[in-house]
Amino acid sequence: MPIKKILIANRGEIAVRIIQTCRQLKIKTVAIFSDADRHAKHVQMADESVHIGSTDLADSYLNIDKIIKAAKQAQVDAIHPGYGFLSERAAFAEALAQAGLIFIGAPIEALRLMGSKSAAKQTMIQAGVPCVPGYQDDNQDETVLAKAADKIGFPILIKAVAGGGGKGMKIVHNAQDFATQLDSAKREAMNAFGDDNVILEKYITQPKHIEVQVFADQRGNVVHLFERDCSTQRRYQKVIEEAPATGLSDATRTDMLNAAIKATQAIDYEGAGTIEFIMDGDDSFYFMEMNTRLQVEHRVSELITGVDLVAWQIHVAEGGKLPKKQHKIHANGHAIQVRLYAEDPQHNYLPSTGLLEQVKLYQAEHALVDSGVRSSDSVTIHYDPMIAKLVVWAKDRKRCIQKMQTMLNQSAIFGVKTNVGFLSQLLTSKPFKKHQIFTNSLDNNEIDLSQPILPEVVAIYADYLLHHQDNGSVWGQVDGWRLQGKIPLHLELTYQGQQQYTVAWEAGGYLVDGMSHYVVQTNDICHVHRNQVQVVHKNLRYEFSLPDHEAKVSASNANAIYAPMPGKIIAVKVAVGQQVEIGQTLVVMEAMKMELELKAEKEATINTVHFAANDQVKADEVLVELED
Ligand code: ADP
Ligand code: ADP
Ligand code: MG
Repeated sequence: MPIKKILIANRGEIAVRIIQTCRQLKIKTVAIFSDADRHAKHVQMADESVHIGSTDLADSYLNIDKIIKAAKQAQVDAIHPGYGFLSERAAFAEALAQAGLIFIGAPIEALRLMGSKSAAKQTMIQAGVPCVPGYQDDNQDETVLAKAADKIGFPILIKAVAGGGGKGMKIVHNAQDFATQLDSAKREAMNAFGDDNVILEKYITQPKHIEVQVFADQRGNVVHLFERDCSTQRRYQKVIEEAPATGLSDATRTDMLNAAIKATQAIDYEGAGTIEFIMDGDDSFYFMEMNTRLQVEHRVSELITGVDLVAWQIHVAEGGKLPKKQHKIHANGHAIQVRLYAEDPQHNYLPSTGLLEQVKLYQAEHALVDSGVRSSDSVTIHYDPMIAKLVVWAKDRKRCIQKMQTMLNQSAIFGVKTNVGFLSQLLTSKPFKKHQIFTNSLDNNEIDLSQPILPEVVAIYADYLLHHQDNGSVWGQVDGWRLQGKIPLHLELTYQGQQQYTVAWEAGGYLVDGMSHYVVQTNDICHVHRNQVQVVHKNLRYEFSLPDHEAKVSASNANAIYAPMPGKIIAVKVAVGQQVEIGQTLVVMEAMKMELELKAEKEATINTVHFAANDQVKADEVLVELED
């Protein structure tokens, strides 16, 4: 039965990505949205949209009844759940079946089985798929668990049976710590999943996360679309994903792909799925879990195989046969994806919310930008702070890394803190290049990502200012500046703390704190927005800020208006003797490519005006004096 209209029970980039394929297939789309998403990109792109509720998840994207009601109202044939949210909920698939709607996802029984880490492992052990040695029985008696831990041998990992998204895991290094760690794991699991059952696993100390994309139709055909390496993780969450896995011997790869097929067949699966394996230093690999949905990182598999996995999902949900037999699916080249988040690497990667003043994501050939946001959208506390996924393809890994580096270098996001710099540093780090990153490398601080700001970076910014000035401003008039004999300029930059530089121009270069620096690198990049500056130099990204003038201006409540920074007076809006009101603009000046309006902070009378239009002023010079 052909599907003609789909409701997408999701939001953000994955909703957008599904709509893209539906458009190609000439399938109508219906978006759903919460109060916070009224103007979201996925809503704008869909053919129709239905408001489902408040920003509360239980009232919107997790509300099964409301979603089914919206689907019926819009008369869709099927629902695509995307990933996250309801995508792996057996109860959702069941409710859709009862409502006569097609669920573009896994069979109910598979969702139920794989939703439990203990049931999943028990099933796989029975099917003869190698699993991480551990304890996955129902008996949760503390002494039984403690004994099992001893038998497995420390270190061990405690996992929530109902866990997911990297939550609810605890490493235990020795028997003495077991009881307390178990308590805390159970408490966390109860809070996060409403279920405090756990399994125990041997903790692999140098693990690689390698997973296999599988696909099955309703007629019993199963294929794989090769593997992905997702070993670059932070707190058990994937950061960079690639396909194929480097450093995997042909024999191990074949074994793993076969094991994945076997696992998929063992549960009579349908649709897209991922079998996650963990690989030890000696190349032995073990089943960890199966994700019964489309994966965040499915794009890298698409780029190496040329398959549109969402199109396949729809086709298989219609009852269609798998479009390709195994021997017709080939892996070609290399693909890498990075997850670009609104988060603050300087502050423990806390999500950074706020207005996305500028989102510039570089598009390249053989590359994809999946994003659910645009400039002027906001990152809110309500949803996942992912801004975009950048995905590139190239002939080999080395070129792929270079290409991704270019994509990151050319991209700039302003308004919230992001992990762009962190991603870029990771990509250029030796361990990543040499493929020596394990899933715990970042958490164990094994990768040096420290990066002091260099005087030459300051020179690059000075150079940018010099060449991007329109007429005016102390920086703009190169000749004037030179003729006046290298007037030193004070640049106050905040880069991981406060730093100040004195910069002067000299023939062909810059004196930064008295040392010469010549800006010769033609591939240096400067992204500037308000007081935020991002310089890319030798593939490293330096993000710093200039003093916040607006804040500084509003702080000056004295009988004088000061120049917050060196610059040029554009206009003096008042005359001596004039009465002014709070907020009235007194002087307009231009500095650092910005126009600043200096305003009265109180009701007053103008006493003295020290400058006129076109005058150059230094930082902290008194421009206007007032009296009450
Ligand atoms: P994947 O295995 O596909 O990379 P993860 O294991 O990182 O995905 O996370 C599991 C799923 O849960 C992902 O699809 C992710 O987007 C989703 N997810 C993670 N955090 C949230 C959240 N706060 N709200 C909704 N979905 C989430
Ligand atoms: P989730 O459902 O939260 O994705 P997983 O079982 O897939 O949980 O594990 C998430 C991550 O935790 C893995 O990608 C891996 O980095 C790490 N991990 C899981 N099991 C082990 C283990 N036995 N030893 C070491 N690390 C592990
Ligand atoms: Mg997992």
